[in-house]
Amino acid sequence: MRSCGSCTLCCKVLRVEALDKPAGAWCPSCRKGIGCEIYETRPGECRTFGCLWLADEQFPAEMKPERSKIVIALESGGGRVGVYVDPDTPTAWKRPETYAMLKRMAAVQAGRRGQVIVFIRDRAIAVLPDRDEDLGAANVAGKAIHYRQNMMTGRIEVEVTDSAAAPAA
Ligand code: SF4
Ligand code: SF4
Repeated sequence: MRSCGSCTLCCKVLRVEALDKPAGAWCPSCRKGIGCEIYETRPGECRTFGCLWLADEQFPAEMKPERSKIVIALESGGGRVGVYVDPDTPTAWKRPETYAMLKRMAAVQAGRRGQVIVFIRDRAIAVLPDRDEDLGAANVAGKAIHYRQNMMTGRIEVEVTDSAAAPAA
């Protein structure tokens, strides 16, 4: 079993709605490299969160978030791979090995209408098998990202809406 050890990066890169904490800013309750100062009373979204590196020992050791500067999480029942990047190293997801891994994930996700989304603070970037698409400030409360396959071209089209409701077909 892996443990977080001195990693606390998710307390920086993720948005925490219950605390009104924006993505990419350290939580005021985080003691960097040590842990949560309000561990017993931390919000539910913190309690239930675990990154992919922590959950899967087959995930490369060098991808430990405190080293890679990226927190990767499975969300929406596996429908989304969220890639949360430390804004102090905003190109960390473009390192060749990491980028190749994200593209492989994008190919797998595309086969089941799933997503791979890079988040850097409020900004979201869809990683698709054939391209990357900058979605702008989509990582904020009330925004939702939808994929839809164009039946004529086979191309995946990405849309950001103002609610979790799916866009009209
Ligand atoms: S990013 Fe992963 S390894 Fe790091 S503290 Fe969060 S859950 Fe633990
Ligand atoms: S409340 Fe604790 S676990 Fe949640 S983001 Fe803040 S420091 Fe991290």
